[in-house]
Amino acid sequence: MAKKWVYLARNGKQAYGELLGREPSLAEMKELFGGKGAGLVDMTAAGAPVPPSFTITTEACVAFMETGDFPEGMWEQTLEAMKDIEAQTGKAFGDPENPLLVSVRSGSRSSMPGMMDTVLNLGLNDETRAALEKLTGNEWFSYDAYRRFITMFSDIVMDYDREHFEDKLDGLKQKEGVELDTEVSLDGLKWLVDAYKEMYRNRFGEDFPTDPYDQLRLATIAVFRSWNGERAIAYREHEGIPHHWGTAANVCTMVFGNMGNDSATGVAFSRSPSTGEHEYLYGEFLVNAQGEDVVAGIRTPQQVSLKGAREWAARQGISEDVRAKRYPSLEEIMPDTYQQFVDIAHMLERYYKDMQDLEFTIERGKLWMLQTRTGKRTAAAHVRIAVDLAREGVIDKEEALLRVEPEHVEQLLRPAFDPTARKQRIARGLNASPGAAVGKAVFAAARATEMATQGENVILVRPETSPDDVPGMLASKGVLTQKGGATSHAAVVARGNNLPCVAGCGEISVDANRRQFTTPDGTVVHEGDVISIDGYTGEVFVGSVPLTESRYEDQKDLITLLSWADEVRTLGVRTNADYPKDAQRAVAFGAEGIGLCRTEHMFFDERARDAVVRMIIADNDDDRQQALDDMLPFQEQDFEGIFEAMDGKPVIMRLIDPPMHEFLPNREELTDDVYRLKLKILTDVSDFDELDRLRAELDEKEKMLHIVEGMWEVNPMMGLRGCRAGIMYKGLTEMQTRAYFQAACRCAKRGISVHPEVMIPLVGVVAELKLEREKLEAVAKDVMAEEGIEVPAIFGTMIEVPRAALTAGEIAEYAQFFSFGTNDLTQMAYGYSRDDAEGKFLLQYVERGILPENPFQVLDEVGVGRLVKMCVEEGRAANPGLEVGICGEHGGDPKSIDFCHRVGLDYVSCSPYRVPIARLAAAQSAIVNR
Ligand code: ADP
Ligand code: MG
Ligand code: MG
Repeated sequence: MAKKWVYLARNGKQAYGELLGREPSLAEMKELFGGKGAGLVDMTAAGAPVPPSFTITTEACVAFMETGDFPEGMWEQTLEAMKDIEAQTGKAFGDPENPLLVSVRSGSRSSMPGMMDTVLNLGLNDETRAALEKLTGNEWFSYDAYRRFITMFSDIVMDYDREHFEDKLDGLKQKEGVELDTEVSLDGLKWLVDAYKEMYRNRFGEDFPTDPYDQLRLATIAVFRSWNGERAIAYREHEGIPHHWGTAANVCTMVFGNMGNDSATGVAFSRSPSTGEHEYLYGEFLVNAQGEDVVAGIRTPQQVSLKGAREWAARQGISEDVRAKRYPSLEEIMPDTYQQFVDIAHMLERYYKDMQDLEFTIERGKLWMLQTRTGKRTAAAHVRIAVDLAREGVIDKEEALLRVEPEHVEQLLRPAFDPTARKQRIARGLNASPGAAVGKAVFAAARATEMATQGENVILVRPETSPDDVPGMLASKGVLTQKGGATSHAAVVARGNNLPCVAGCGEISVDANRRQFTTPDGTVVHEGDVISIDGYTGEVFVGSVPLTESRYEDQKDLITLLSWADEVRTLGVRTNADYPKDAQRAVAFGAEGIGLCRTEHMFFDERARDAVVRMIIADNDDDRQQALDDMLPFQEQDFEGIFEAMDGKPVIMRLIDPPMHEFLPNREELTDDVYRLKLKILTDVSDFDELDRLRAELDEKEKMLHIVEGMWEVNPMMGLRGCRAGIMYKGLTEMQTRAYFQAACRCAKRGISVHPEVMIPLVGVVAELKLEREKLEAVAKDVMAEEGIEVPAIFGTMIEVPRAALTAGEIAEYAQFFSFGTNDLTQMAYGYSRDDAEGKFLLQYVERGILPENPFQVLDEVGVGRLVKMCVEEGRAANPGLEVGICGEHGGDPKSIDFCHRVGLDYVSCSPYRVPIARLAAAQSAIVNR
């Protein structure tokens, strides 16, 4: 028996089940029938009213692509299936008395733009048109269907652009002085059909195909071919959809929403796609209309449900009277049909266990379901629907956790455009970095910086960006580029800096010299014009679209979902916070401790500046100790604030890390100053007083320059920093530790529960750690004795030098915890300096496939990950009580978090606003890797 290429909707699921020897899963159904076909089969199986249909499988498409011909048996099976739906409908394809008309619809596994559009009313010719007239008693309708069919067939199947047909129709409407398609006269339509046929003949040198089976064959070929259309391929490339899937072709008995005022067509969601609420059906319809009329925007659609209609009218400023008269809801005009639709929507939701996006048509009062699919939705709706479905018992909590992407959580915590606001979209590009931004368009990075300094909100618009543009990008609210993909410079920099970005917006043409860009419809946006960009969707709007701030505290559903996440995750989530207010925010977001508190910012504190400089340049122990004593109170203050915020939770304080010269004046500036002062002394001094003053100043600057030059390093990243500085600068880390433990003890005395942990950075050999730890532990003991209170202190090290990872066993003997500093570890494992790499070649590497991803964003499992894994194993073997975490930027990246889970870390630590994301990601890892 030939392979089965064609399945009837009325028994397709059963037939496929027989073939498999078990019930097919939802995914298998989609694989074979495509999403649309699976929906038709499933809906039919579930007893929903679906017009008799059949599906030619994706496998047939794949076979067709290989040979250029229908596979053996496929066409015969198609003809048989036609017979079956003829029998079901009591009509016959091409029959001059009672003709069957069908739609031919493409549909792959996941919905895909660029695929062939649907051809409606297939099977029409002069004879069947006449029959349609007789059967419906509506000549106008029959011609309307006919002219639509010729347009669609020519456009979609034959690639003869529909514009030509629309132009003709527009001309006719003008001649008749009417506005709507529905107002065109019968004679006009007849004339139009003839004109269309003639256009077709002139274009193709043959008559419009009258044989319905020819029409069907050509349409099926067009569906299969569209799989390899340019736009479809480009879309798959971008979305990472495999090219070998193929599309199904669905043949579906026509039902008519355009048969008069008891007919209608529309779309609806079973829950709100923007908020997720589910009080009623969220959708729109048009009376006396067909197919895409609803979305085409020719007439104003009405709302499906009454409540929805009232809300819609209120938003539009339409009074209830006018609404009820001009825009009644389906619920009002066809209450029974509405109720039937509600029941079906409900049933399908239970079946698919998710919110459904439904297409329906009502033909003379009878409801027909034409499509069901999982509805696209906003991040907020994602969370709300997942939580609601779990509460309703449709899915379990773990399924709910898996339904929401960490990215959705991220989106929810950023300002977004108000979904109810009116927007004027002018272009669309790639959604390269999420977030919504409003600002004045500027076309040069320097100009962006300049305007931003004056307090303006700007959006940098460039053909593409380069490292030179980075300062300007960072000064902007968002970035829009004409060229480049999701891994272009603009996209990567934007994502790394939480900057909304729309990239690769090929529709616009940017003229940086003339400081303007032009959109496809000819709109010109000049420098200073306000635009809004949506990094979630890639949309660009003119004018200022209102933003909605999203407060975590207000997001009850998200809070619920994350509480479920906390129940299943085994990985702890801490935060990287340097200031008390960041620590507080992170706690509100659910952080369970601080994984990294950097202390260097305290050295930049204006009040401590002078002491810091004195400490660094001191040439004797006394001076240095004096300077350190002066710094101590400032350090201590900040620590107290942090302990207060983290009451009851561990706090890892990392000792000073950067090279000391970062805290001294800049070398170039000093050189300039010295030169300037010398020149002035030689040429431009008015009196001795001034001369004395200038000389003193010069003397000071020269001294400082001398010191700075003495500290100059070829490669400061690998120079005197981290624990090396702690070892070389006497008293420095002792002071930090003293400040830290004084703060801890004093807080403890006030009843705050403190868990201080001291982290020694950049250890490469165990002797460094041993030396530092012994020294600092003594300080901690002293302080506790002085303060008369004990606090539970632990000491550990950051693992960021590869040698430390390689000697984890030794190091673990002197460490109570490890924390992976994966930024430095990545730099040193690859031998990249991050800034140089990202500025010069890394993005290219990713674009050219030399690297799969930017290793500074997603932890490199193969190499760096191997160091981590080995280090965890050997560290724990040597010291079973070892606490192990990560504090590099990777700690907030979902993919890297999954790795951390698998490798058995105790916690991840990330920036405060990524804490909720990490909680979800950690839960997903726990579920998926179980
Ligand atoms: P898309 O993939 O764009 O959703 P569809 O195949 O669903 O394409 O069809 C486009 C429009 O035509 C939709 O409004 C759909 O409901 C309508 N349509 C498709 N098939 C039929 C049919 N057999 N009878 C009536 N309307 C149909
Ligand atoms: Mg559809
Ligand atoms: Mg580091």
